[in-house]
Amino acid sequence: MPLLKIEHIGIAVSNLEASNKLFTSLFGKAPYKTEEVASEGVITSFFQTGDSKIELLEASNPDSPIAKFIEKKGEGVHHIAFLVDDIKAEMKRLADEGFILLSDEPKLGADNKLVCFLHPKSTNGVLIELCQEIISS
Ligand code: ZN
Repeated sequence: MPLLKIEHIGIAVSNLEASNKLFTSLFGKAPYKTEEVASEGVITSFFQTGDSKIELLEASNPDSPIAKFIEKKGEGVHHIAFLVDDIKAEMKRLADEGFILLSDEPKLGADNKLVCFLHPKSTNGVLIELCQEIISS
């Protein structure tokens, strides 16, 4: 199966605490989780409203991709994540289609997901995340 749906939209923020307050006011509810992904240099929080999720991302160190993104573009929409049910198969399909993958293997992402990003150079400037739910047995 190809990309199933938009799983979430990622927004780069420079101050997660302040943005958590802002988005809590916006949604009328608090984030359902906050999580550090040390390997990616980010602290994230997730909001859910209906079927839609928003991920806020703050850099946890100055070399973080989020720090670089904010330096270049400022705060704002950072990526769009699509749910897949077989991330390895989709990575292969998209690589065969000529998209540039940012990793050869799926990585452990936030919110119990395996993730892989597509280089925005190959997707009209939009950073695309593929994510697959980790089903623990
Ligand atoms: Zn994401």
